[in-house]
Amino acid sequence: LPVRRWEKLFDMVDSLDIKRYVTQVSEDVFVIRQPIGLITTTIVVLVGEELAIVDTGLGDSAQSLIFPFLKQIGREPKDIKMVVNTHCHFDHIGGNKDILEASSAELAAHRADAPWIEDIARQRREIWERFGELHPIPEIPKEKELGCPVKRVLKGGEKLKLGNREFEVIHFPGHSPGCICLYDEAGGLLISGDSIQGQGHRAAPCPMVSDLKGYAEALKLISTRRIMCLVAGHQFMPFGSSPILEGKEAMQLVAESARTISRYIIAAENFFKERSDGATLAELRDFLSERFARGEKTLGGLFTTEAILHNLEEKKVVVKCAESDKWRKR
Ligand SMILES: [Zn+2]
Repeated sequence: LPVRRWEKLFDMVDSLDIKRYVTQVSEDVFVIRQPIGLITTTIVVLVGEELAIVDTGLGDSAQSLIFPFLKQIGREPKDIKMVVNTHCHFDHIGGNKDILEASSAELAAHRADAPWIEDIARQRREIWERFGELHPIPEIPKEKELGCPVKRVLKGGEKLKLGNREFEVIHFPGHSPGCICLYDEAGGLLISGDSIQGQGHRAAPCPMVSDLKGYAEALKLISTRRIMCLVAGHQFMPFGSSPILEGKEAMQLVAESARTISRYIIAAENFFKERSDGATLAELRDFLSERFARGEKTLGGLFTTEAILHNLEEKKVVVKCAESDKWRKR
């Protein structure tokens, strides 16, 4: 398989001063931001008598950030009782193995993403089978490839006690089939992982959404909740500088997420009006990325473009050609 080299990413945080990467959101909620290229990936530590970790960053996060941080607050890895993955992507699950080995924590994740969390090679294989040469598969070092069993399989609607707080699990399909948000109604805290994509982020300036209907419905639902603080997985745009957003900005991110997808769909519809000979998935992806994402050809862009094609097919705006790999206007 063609590969892109990512090893550097995993070595980056070797010698960091931990405090620079930690934000205390409230007395019992800490956000660790682990660098990943142009952005960071979020690890949330919820502190009570027992500890819980939401998302575990990249492969070396436990040794380089999480365990040293716990030491600073006078706690130990064995105090961790629950690890939750908001979804299956490699930059949110990398520390699972080290944490589970150092504690008796249970791993929790949504049932739709559990198979990919348990078998990381399968993630890569299935993405390869889906997009082939359109997207070279990132090479993840072999030792980072070990999946972990998901003991607590979620379907949405459950209540989870994490640290001192009680969270509702909100299934949020879109970015991945098994994305979840964790919502603490009493505290107005929403931990959203990559569920609420905004306009994408600086490293991949296009939202990655593979289920447009699920995404739209979940965004609508979340917009009715009281959110005082939203902790996202990355610095989603238009708020590119922080993954932590307060009330008004949080609601703006939700609204902008829905608007962004609508803009993409309208642009795609107009694109097909002017292309009587139709276009392939790659051609539409390239058009949309030129238009909205600085021409960057991201994996997220492929997922989103594919979802848009299915949406336009369902609305009978386009039809897949029988004789080629193109879609054209009906
Ligand atoms: Zn993700």
